[in-house]
Amino acid sequence: MKRHSKQKERPVRPIAADGIIINAGQVILVRRANEPFKGRWVLPGGMLEDGESLEETLVREMREETGLVVKPIAVVSAYSDPSRDPRKTISVAFLCEVKAGKIESSAEGKAKAFPIYKALEMDLGFDHNTVLRDGISKLVHTYIDTMLMEGLKRDAPVLHLKRKGSAFRRLVFVMLSARTKDEMTEKATNRLFSKYKTAKEMAKANLAELEKLIYGVGFYKTKAKKLKALAKHVAEKGIPKSLDELMQLPGVGRKTARVFLAEMGKAIVGADVHVHRISNRLGLVNTKTPKETEEKLSFLKPWERAHINLAMVTYGQTVCKAKPNCKLCPFKKFCAYFNGVNSKSPTTHSVRK
Ligand code: SF4
Repeated sequence: MKRHSKQKERPVRPIAADGIIINAGQVILVRRANEPFKGRWVLPGGMLEDGESLEETLVREMREETGLVVKPIAVVSAYSDPSRDPRKTISVAFLCEVKAGKIESSAEGKAKAFPIYKALEMDLGFDHNTVLRDGISKLVHTYIDTMLMEGLKRDAPVLHLKRKGSAFRRLVFVMLSARTKDEMTEKATNRLFSKYKTAKEMAKANLAELEKLIYGVGFYKTKAKKLKALAKHVAEKGIPKSLDELMQLPGVGRKTARVFLAEMGKAIVGADVHVHRISNRLGLVNTKTPKETEEKLSFLKPWERAHINLAMVTYGQTVCKAKPNCKLCPFKKFCAYFNGVNSKSPTTHSVRK
């Protein structure tokens, strides 16, 4: 093979490790004492030194810049856009948990813990807004995996529904669930579908019979009327796929449509009472209504948007209930509510369906 007489020079770029340290619903940031981005808040991090693995760099830099001893939980991503840093650094970001220590500033800058929801809205230096959003998406991914496992162990009612439900049955379940406990909704849906298997059969049902079958769910009389109209529409035209069209169906509002689409695996945050309450408790958001929660979580990546509803309903039915059973929860050290950090976390009194 013919060799070029003059070999092309390969660029040499510094490698760094950045840390997204999560503790009690907060993330640790550092206000830079030096250029570049002097005076701006950034994620802690630093350059790889000779003889180190990247994980060793991470642990050393986190200790030097924040005073905390951390353990990496997951790799978030690598960031290599040459314009991200005037030094053209390539960085690998890690999600970390705190093992020991207390926050201390250094010559690199002042270290401070910020609520996750606040840090997500700050104007950070470098490309750290993107890195932080990716890191929180990764965190939510790990929450979702664990919540589903815990819910499966404890036989969450929603997982039964998911296993045997047709699209129409799931739509009816979500519609009936407004202002009703999940256990009650589950019983009413089972009674209803043991008598009427399809939308066509349900459309022909006697109204008084429908009322009797769903008795116990909130506003059962109004819902029985809407259910009959919904069944007629679905029997004639099927279930539409878009959010806008779904919202035109009888008895299907914005929240029902979004939760249903999320149930069907679409990349959409369907924030019901569980998603709203648990996201606030974990410190991911600080919101008053499920609609606000939906908006604040819309930065999540598609997989997390599609699965957050099922995971948090599963978890809300078994562990993080209205009165949470924190003793069973593996997220204690990450949770704002458990650590008393976010006093505005919704409580049993402030969150209603
Ligand atoms: S169960 Fe307790 S520790 Fe776990 S997420 Fe809920 S409030 Fe936080």
